[in-house]
Order: sequence, then structure tokens, then C-alpha cells
Amino acid sequence: MVNIGTLFRECQSVLEAARIPDARFDAMCIFQDCLGDKNPLFRPLEAVNPETEAKIRAMTERRLNGEPLQYILGEWEFYGYPFKVGAGVLIPRPDTETLVDNVIRLCRENKITSPRVADLCAGSGCIAVTLKKELPLSEVFAIELSQEALPYLRQNVSLNEAAVDIIEGDVLSDKTASGFSGLDIVVSNPPYLTADEMNELQEEVRREPSMALAGGGDGLDFYRALTPLWKGALRNGGWLCYEFGMGQHDEVGKILAGNGFENIKFTRDLGGIIRTAMAQKTEENNG
Ligand code: GLN
Repeated sequence: MVNIGTLFRECQSVLEAARIPDARFDAMCIFQDCLGDKNPLFRPLEAVNPETEAKIRAMTERRLNGEPLQYILGEWEFYGYPFKVGAGVLIPRPDTETLVDNVIRLCRENKITSPRVADLCAGSGCIAVTLKKELPLSEVFAIELSQEALPYLRQNVSLNEAAVDIIEGDVLSDKTASGFSGLDIVVSNPPYLTADEMNELQEEVRREPSMALAGGGDGLDFYRALTPLWKGALRNGGWLCYEFGMGQHDEVGKILAGNGFENIKFTRDLGGIIRTAMAQKTEENNG
């Protein structure tokens, strides 16, 4: 039987040879998942049983074929919470933790103790679930259209025991938006990649649903459509909170201002990129 250390070196080097970025990290995650150890190399001389070896080899092979590590593992962490992921749902990104942080801070600073929140294009549910966990008195609606993403959303809501209301619907439809009123917060990480970016996707991102990524020619289709549509669902003084892509802040800011939103604030993500905007519906602009 092969030992852990030998098998680990072999898997790491085939991933490296195939120029898989972060080969060692990926191999480590696969081994941890299969062996249940914090660091599999703590016991490099221990034998790997044939069944586990086959599992490790199969997962390494999937990674070699360009499948995202997160889909192979089937679960990924966001804001310290576990989320089931797989083909058909966008993988939660650390950038989006900035958006969640902002919403939490906004509620605390404005003393909104039991916010009514709608998460548009909820996907895996990472935003909606995390907000419900961090703000237990909140009422959170997660709206998603994709039949592929909805099962993950449902699973993640129950996995995290978060009482989030899941709504199957099209956020671009007036029918969906008009079903809501008096919301304190509308939050969204909509698809925002440009047509050019969609043509140059990294191998791993190409495996993710284009429905969660493609934001039209300039990537801004959703901001243009959602901003006027969901303004009516916000209460006076309520906030619209968006994530967007690198370099889109000016245009998103213009869309928000053009729709009468005020107090527009931008925040950088941990990589230093201006990543989110928050804007308030005030009494003067509620028309
Ligand atoms: N941040 C994602 C990416 O760069 C895009 C997510 C989105 O379009 N909402 O792949």
C-alpha cells in the first residue's frame, strides 16, 4: 500500500506539471477531505487504504481536467459558514464577504435591529444565509431563478439552520419586485462580467454557470434593470447594496444617482478593488 507522503507528492507534482495554480493547496484540500486530517503530512508514513487512494486519485484527476476545486470538494466556506457547491451554482468568493460585512455594519450603525432584507440572484445563498446567521432578528428573502442553483440554496439554508425565505423567481420581472414593499435592504451580487470578460474566462470559471456571470455587453445590464425596479420595494431610508466588478464603480454610481439614490458609498475588497456600493432611498427621491 502506498503511504500518505508518497501519494501526496505524486498528486502535487501531477497538478504542478499540468500548471494547475495553487497545486499544493489543492492537493492538501483533497487529502484533508479524504483523510479527515488537518494536515495529512503529519503522518506521512501511514498507509492509505486502496479505497481512499482511488478516491484521492479520482479527485486529483478531476482537478487536472480543470474542474474547480470547490466543486470537487462539494463544499466551501464563506464567512465561516459551510456552503454546498457544485456544477450549476456560483462558488462563493471572498470578495462577496465585503458586501456582507457592509450590510451588517450598515444595520448596526443605523440601528436597524430587525432588518427586512431581499437578496437578489441568491445563488448558493451565501449572502442571505450569512446575513440571517449574523443578524438573527432579520427577515431574509433569497430570490433565485436558476433550477440548477435552487437545490443548493435550499440545502445551504437547512445546512446552516438559517430561517431564510426562498423565493423562486425572476428578479428582473416587475411581478417579483412588486411582491415586496417596506424592505430595509436590497442586496445583490448580480452577474457583472462584460462580454469580453466572458470570452476570456479562466478554465475553472468557465465551469461555473454563465447565468451567474454574464452581465451583458458592458456587464451592467442588471444594475440598470434592478435599480429602478427594486427601488419601489425599499422603504424610505432603505438601502440598495451591490457588488460589482473591477472598474465598474463609476458607472454603477451613475446608475444609482440617476435613479435618485443618495448617500452613495463605495468600499474596497481585501484586494483593494472598489467592489461594493451602498445607496439610500431618501424621502425626496421616492418617486
Ligand atoms: N466575481 C466573479 C468573477 O470574477 C463574478 C461574479 C459575478 O458576476 N457576480 O468571476
